[in-house]
Amino acid sequence: MSRSTRRMSIRAEHANAPAWSRVRSSRRANAASNASPRRATKKMMMMTSSAVRQGDFPKPALDVPTNENYAEAKALSQRLQNFQLDRASTEKRKPSVLVIGGGLAGLSSAKYLSDAGAEVTVIERAKMLGGKTSAWQDADGDWIETGLHIFFGAYPNMMNLFAELDIEDRLQWKEHAMAFAMRDFPGQFTKFYFPPFLPAPFNMGWAILSNDKMLSWTEKIRTGIPLLPMLLGGQEYIDAQDELSVEEWMKRNFMPKRVRDELFIAMGKALDFIDADKLSMTVILTAMNRFINETHGSKTAFLDGNQPDRLCAPMAEHIERVGGGKVVVDTPMQEILVDENGRVEGVKLRNGEIMTADHYVSAMPVDALKLKLPEKWRAMPFFKQLNELEGIPVINVHLWFDRKLRPYNGLVFSRSPLLSVYADMSECCSEYADENRSMLELVFAPCDVTAGSDVNWIAASDDEIVAATLKELENLFPDEIGGEDGAKLRKSAVVKTPRSVYAAVPGRNKFRPSQNTPIENFTLAGDFTSQKFLGSMEGAILSGKLAAEVAAEKLSGRVPSQGVKPVHVE
Ligand SMILES: Cc1cc2nc3c(=O)[nH]c(=O)nc-3n(C[C@H](O)[C@H](O)[C@H](O)COP(=O)(O)OP(=O)(O)OC[C@H]3O[C@@H](n4cnc5c(N)ncnc54)[C@H](O)[C@@H]3O)c2cc1C
Repeated sequence: MSRSTRRMSIRAEHANAPAWSRVRSSRRANAASNASPRRATKKMMMMTSSAVRQGDFPKPALDVPTNENYAEAKALSQRLQNFQLDRASTEKRKPSVLVIGGGLAGLSSAKYLSDAGAEVTVIERAKMLGGKTSAWQDADGDWIETGLHIFFGAYPNMMNLFAELDIEDRLQWKEHAMAFAMRDFPGQFTKFYFPPFLPAPFNMGWAILSNDKMLSWTEKIRTGIPLLPMLLGGQEYIDAQDELSVEEWMKRNFMPKRVRDELFIAMGKALDFIDADKLSMTVILTAMNRFINETHGSKTAFLDGNQPDRLCAPMAEHIERVGGGKVVVDTPMQEILVDENGRVEGVKLRNGEIMTADHYVSAMPVDALKLKLPEKWRAMPFFKQLNELEGIPVINVHLWFDRKLRPYNGLVFSRSPLLSVYADMSECCSEYADENRSMLELVFAPCDVTAGSDVNWIAASDDEIVAATLKELENLFPDEIGGEDGAKLRKSAVVKTPRSVYAAVPGRNKFRPSQNTPIENFTLAGDFTSQKFLGSMEGAILSGKLAAEVAAEKLSGRVPSQGVKPVHVE
């Protein structure tokens, strides 16, 4: 490792960065003083251009009659708008809602409650918005992200949100293909192409059948047949497989082992940062079901810059401008205060201040929520079931090189035992673009025994993590990394998230709580709550919307259309 290599390690939970409203002004000042003219011009182009950027692909047509999921998401947005809580209130004032947590779920619930006519305050513990999508700048002005985040065409609520906020041009769509590194041929990659001239499910059929690098014809047939019930039985069949691990499901269905090695391990690591033999089969089936049923479902997009500025800030602005609400960072909630009946009376902040509202939404991750449950609620089965859910560890690694590696404008499944997916952000993302030097962002998983690794990487030093990542990259880029003449690392950053999305080990779905809770003035949001998009950005946005619907119904005196989900613990 060269001496000049600089390292930076930030634990996602304790990152030190400015408030969302302050980020932009300080960054502009930074940009003005630090950025090269080339970078500044590029940034300006990024901010102003709505045309498709060079190397990217046009936005897919998602708002079409055949896309039922998109239409359903749009209808839910409309339903929330129709509440008009401000006009319905007998007290002639907007009902107030306090949302705890400024990740995507919290911002989504606040955005849609604002649309419904409530006055919403969001309090976020960290110094910036975004939660697991948060990001901050290092001393050079380079962005460090909690995670490499990919958007899919099969994210109907997220795509509706982008349209509603009028920021659709911030998504950089990539070619419709899935790129996999070839395990036995270092430096070689193979792609599953989804041809644009075929609708679903034929485009996926073509993608699989026309690729002969990973599976033989016999293996493809032996894989296709057990997947038919997923197509015919839909969500009901998928949900029923949650008690089985990928291994168990494959054994029952006589699937060739190579499918696990070639595909399912890579998918499991990408979807839940966990090994396939630990993962619930529902996760794989959920993703495959969306990808096979929606023409653009597996199409990927990158945000054109950091998430706090490019996605969270427009949401916060909407909450404040449209709803007259408030979004505050660096404001940790210390305690949920309840009355003798267990109803929420207010919340106490870490600085001692007490905040009150007509309704409360927790958008904290499940591990944080468990720690903050009031004593009175702990014995209630609804809250006890949360003990069955736990976040899985994951590490996000950033590597800045002194030159360009073989360029690829899209996501790659590394198929390395240590790594999941990665992307060269100097190619994929306008804000991080660099014509001369690559910046790889890589998801390092599995990270500990619970996730399927023998090594407790989450406890390893940054040096060890970077060294192990570079070793793996020598296999992925054998002609470019390693050796005397190989590309040199300029600097690196490692972000550890010890508890990220809930670990989707078998049997967890039944413990995922509904947004509606037995507490009359308290609703849950968060990707771990019950919704069909697993622990993902789409899941977080949908959970926020569903929470907004429950809260709006309760605030308008209606019986929530969504009941409290039956509980499976005593
Ligand atoms: C490395 C990585 C890569 C990922 N890649 C993808 C991807 O490619 N595609 C995808 O769809 N998803 C991806 N995800 C998952 C996605 O980021 C999450 O599913 C989603 O962001 C979760 O949002 P959330 O709002 O439910 O939770 P969080 O983002 O965890 O937000 C919860 C918020 O609550 C705040 N909070 C906690 N306690 C308190 C308190 N006491 N007071 C006030 N605030 C509090 C937290 O600070 C946090 O901001 C990835 C995640 C990681 C970590």
